[in-house]
Amino acid sequence: MDVSRIVGRLVGVRQHVVDPGGGGAPRVPEPVAALVVGGGIAGMSAAVVLAERGVSVTVLEAAATLGGRLGAWPETLADGTPQAVEHGFHAFFRQYYNWRSILRRGDPRLGFLRPVPGYPVVSARWPEEEFGRLPPAPPANLLALLLRSPSVRPRDLRAMDRDAALPLLAYHPVRTYAELDGVTAEELLDSLRLPDRARAMLFEVFAHSFFNHEAEMSAAELVAQFHFYLLGNPEGLAFDCPDEDHATAIWRPLARYVEGRGGRVLTGAAAGRVERGPDGWRVTTADGASYAARHLVLAVDPPALAALVAGSPGLAGAAPRLVARMPAFGVPGPPYAVARYWCDGDVDAGRAVFSGVSRQPTLDSVTLYHRLEREARRWAERAGGAVVELHAYACEPDVPADELARRMWGELAVLWPEAARLRIRELRARVAAQAPAFGPGSHAGRPGVRTEAAGLYLAGDGIRTDFPSALMERAAATGIVAANHILRAAGAAAEPVRSVRPRGLLARR
Ligand SMILES: Cc1cc2nc3c(=O)[nH]c(=O)nc-3n(C[C@H](O)[C@H](O)[C@H](O)COP(=O)(O)OP(=O)(O)OC[C@H]3O[C@@H](n4cnc5c(N)ncnc54)[C@H](O)[C@@H]3O)c2cc1C
Repeated sequence: MDVSRIVGRLVGVRQHVVDPGGGGAPRVPEPVAALVVGGGIAGMSAAVVLAERGVSVTVLEAAATLGGRLGAWPETLADGTPQAVEHGFHAFFRQYYNWRSILRRGDPRLGFLRPVPGYPVVSARWPEEEFGRLPPAPPANLLALLLRSPSVRPRDLRAMDRDAALPLLAYHPVRTYAELDGVTAEELLDSLRLPDRARAMLFEVFAHSFFNHEAEMSAAELVAQFHFYLLGNPEGLAFDCPDEDHATAIWRPLARYVEGRGGRVLTGAAAGRVERGPDGWRVTTADGASYAARHLVLAVDPPALAALVAGSPGLAGAAPRLVARMPAFGVPGPPYAVARYWCDGDVDAGRAVFSGVSRQPTLDSVTLYHRLEREARRWAERAGGAVVELHAYACEPDVPADELARRMWGELAVLWPEAARLRIRELRARVAAQAPAFGPGSHAGRPGVRTEAAGLYLAGDGIRTDFPSALMERAAATGIVAANHILRAAGAAAEPVRSVRPRGLLARR
């Protein structure tokens, strides 16, 4: 075992069990039905666990394809080539224990995931900073990063306000929010008194990955994510990516898995209204169809949840606290943009598959799909080209997708001059605002999985967990927690839930 992992284990950096699961029958003893609204990670994770235990589960997904923000759909390029286009590149971090356990249902060996070596951050002003290839476990990874980083010199560390930095090492699920939820991430970073370069290259790219502007994001959330990604897990900042598009690698296998266990997965089924009936819950879809079940999991993104609750007047009596929380919860974070470019010619051979970008006005990351996924690779080999995807995680509102794509490409050409010489053959550009906002002071009003109404649960990456989690992992974990409530109520064994070290290395008990 790696020395950093041994040291890490000695200080409790390992996989922790939040819920051991079990405790009931392998299958529900009596027939029981559940509805899941939303076929993204959260909804499908709930459906997988419920279907395995014999719950008669129906997933209602509004879109034509599964996956939500991890979705993929077929498109045809002008040259007639079919290409799966995705909602965007995703990094599957190694400490996504719950999401990986769901993915194993579709592929027990996770053979579709390939390690992505390196995680460079590039900027126009400073040399590249490498976040990959660190010792995997804390505290060695943090020490190695600080010692080897060209962005921090010993005198910068001496000048930094070390007291202000302590909260980053002392994540606590209650105290961190009590002390820092009212402060912005920007204020916390200002208080560290880091030189501009260290702040830009080491912290800002990280903060941007959560789809919130630093000035509008809670400092407590930044501390929680710093812990979840860097300081609480023995795997470090390492991640893998599918070598096939997300529909082929993930959604078709998971849908087959649920259907093979008696579940139903319906696409093009947008829930419009939810009401409580004498025996549970009823969901009416936009086409007038109606579905009933004892249990209901609402696994939709925050604006969709607020819209669904607003369209369900009956919930005012059944779940008044949930209804009251929705106007604030339903306001998403800033828009994000994703643009995929099919180009003639390639970027330099040494460019990384995935790079974070610091201090460009729009661009936050670059992915080379033709070095990642099979279909894009085949197109690029045939056409002598490249398939490049650019992301902006928190952009200016009200700017059309094509304009954001134009800006991002211009910014890429500043960082990688060879990009200016590529001819763009095709472009697919999108802008959306569906990510949860983690504004200062938002923690107290953030709903958890369980609601005040019996049999009604929430899941998704905006839903609160009592253990460290984020993004895809939070979506999967809340889906499993929702399923566990249903399984326990029905007398069936629950699914284990795992997490990274529950508190920071310096958190007092
Ligand atoms: C560009 C981009 C890059 C990202 N990169 C990463 C990454 O690298 N790593 C990472 O961990 N996370 C990443 N994320 C975040 C990740 O995608 C999300 O955290 C995760 O997919 C959220 O899953 P979810 O199930 O909570 O929500 P969603 O994926 O939003 O799923 C909700 C589903 O509900 C459906 N729905 C909405 N309303 C209704 C209705 N009324 N009736 C029926 N269905 C409805 C939607 O169509 C959708 O399918 C990224 C996100 C984006 C946008």
